[in-house]
Amino acid sequence: MATTAARRVHASERGDIENALKQRVSGEVKFDPFSRVLYSTDASIYQMEPVGVVIPRNVEDVLAVIEVAKESGVPVLPRAGGTSLAGQTVNHAIVTDFSKYLNQIIEVNQEEQWARVQPGIVLDDLNRQLLPYGLMYAPDPTTSSRACVGGGVGNNSCGAHSVIYGKTLDHIKEVSVILSDGTQSHFQELDSRGLEAKLSGAGLESEIYRGVRRLAQENAAEIEARYPNIMRRVSGYNLDEFLTDSPFNMTKMVVGSEGTLCVITEIKINLVPRPIMTALAVVHFEDIFGASDAVQHILEHDPSSIEIMDKNVLERSRQSAGLASNMAFIEGNPGAILVVEFYGESDAELTDKTDKLKEDMASRSLGYACVNVLDRAAQASVWAVRKNGLGLLMSMHGDAKPLPFVEDTAVDPDKMGEFVRRFDEVVRNHDTEAAYYGHASVGCLHIRPVVSLKSRDGVNKMLSIADEISDLVKEFGGSLSGEHGDGIVRGVWNEKMFGPEIYKLFQELKGTFDPDGIMNPNKIVDCPPMDQNLRYGGDYRAPSLPTKLDFSIDTDFA
Ligand SMILES: Cc1cc2nc3c(=O)[nH]c(=O)nc-3n(C[C@H](O)[C@H](O)[C@H](O)COP(=O)(O)OP(=O)(O)OC[C@H]3O[C@@H](n4cnc5c(N)ncnc54)[C@H](O)[C@@H]3O)c2cc1C
Repeated sequence: MATTAARRVHASERGDIENALKQRVSGEVKFDPFSRVLYSTDASIYQMEPVGVVIPRNVEDVLAVIEVAKESGVPVLPRAGGTSLAGQTVNHAIVTDFSKYLNQIIEVNQEEQWARVQPGIVLDDLNRQLLPYGLMYAPDPTTSSRACVGGGVGNNSCGAHSVIYGKTLDHIKEVSVILSDGTQSHFQELDSRGLEAKLSGAGLESEIYRGVRRLAQENAAEIEARYPNIMRRVSGYNLDEFLTDSPFNMTKMVVGSEGTLCVITEIKINLVPRPIMTALAVVHFEDIFGASDAVQHILEHDPSSIEIMDKNVLERSRQSAGLASNMAFIEGNPGAILVVEFYGESDAELTDKTDKLKEDMASRSLGYACVNVLDRAAQASVWAVRKNGLGLLMSMHGDAKPLPFVEDTAVDPDKMGEFVRRFDEVVRNHDTEAAYYGHASVGCLHIRPVVSLKSRDGVNKMLSIADEISDLVKEFGGSLSGEHGDGIVRGVWNEKMFGPEIYKLFQELKGTFDPDGIMNPNKIVDCPPMDQNLRYGGDYRAPSLPTKLDFSIDTDFA
């Protein structure tokens, strides 16, 4: 059962849709070419021009968008910070941007440690506002300065501290949503009576409850067998969450659904106490393989985080005017480092933890240096390098860049050393190299092969690497997505990764929630080929512009 492809809309039809929206929406309706181009990209390799953009002021506006989408058959794409890497935040759709107005905290319950928020609130803003309560929202993607809670729910995002806090899935209690037929619904934990009431009702909401329960119950054995047995699996839909004995909560299906099932209008999030004190130990290695091998041993020390960075990230940071002065924590010229963080309640406790790690590394001959960083400002410098390193990588001169297309693999951390060696072999067999960084504590690695997508050869190289890496991830029992989501770039591999039976369940699930295919279609399932809708592509030619300065080192302007 393939869902309808997002269709291209002609200019006159676009005008009708714009007019219909302007009559019903109190927020902003932007169908001009500039806005459409602005919203045609996310942080992925893709570009898809929206039909138009709506910036809703309230839930009624979002309802109006869905009504117009239903009437016109044009899809809706909810958007938050737009920082996604897999193409899930671009589509030929009415893009509905939650980040400008629907970005408030509605309620905080300090005693019970939860809050109700609107989807467009930026993570750092949320956590700043929670400071007086001594609480925080735990999922911490590197993009927390601009990514929003709603986008994190869409992708099931994680971050540097997931080894102790888990995924977004573990922190979302309830969601208010609008279903594809315009019904407003609230998903939360249900006891058996509550569930029976939902199952026996009429309308789309009840069909969804019946559908999800049936798909999970009838296919439990296949789901058990096919889902990777690792914490960091975010590929596909969370059917595995409906096999457990815990109370039925449809929220778990919404998390990670990338706007393909329904639109979220409010979220009840779990909050955790802020750590009292932290310290870092930065372990230096000759190469990325040694660093990967050490992770399983470091995990025995119960760190709150282990982040990996390779020499590419470090060299770029050293060369950057903004970060060069942050690099005092580096000794020599490491091929890779592991930044290990500990939580604690006193300097003495943290000194003890970091010293013990240092001794252990020395006794096992793991790494050539271990630098303890206890000072708070110095720790912030290290995190700044980790958070900004990627942006710097993208400043690599020339058309070939370290691009996100196999950048989110996750495997059991115990197998990381072997996995990284095999990954590197695939990359080198394609006559290129890769930049390595990521959340080593949970085996989630952001490995970006350097390719140019402005030539057909480069595009073919990407396809071939992605094919071989999907084989490798399958062999290691891992997941192609450990936190960034599927979008297009990984959605195309879901049938291979989960097998045809589970893939059919994904399609059926999508069809149950969204029978007319108006919710961000062709993401996760029924995706277009990986090399369609590329921002550049084999035929791309940058316009040549006369300039006073010499930019030839960068090849061209885009
Ligand atoms: C440099 C860089 C580093 C990154 N590091 C991390 C990391 O450490 N960890 C990590 O997990 N990710 C990371 N990411 C990926 C991305 O930043 C995260 O997934 C982030 O949580 C996305 O949030 P956003 O607000 O930008 O969402 P968007 O990209 O706007 O949306 C994400 C998805 O959610 C859906 N969505 C948005 N709002 C709604 C809504 N109201 N209702 C229904 N669906 C909705 C969208 O349709 C889309 O499918 C990184 C990305 C970049 C570019």
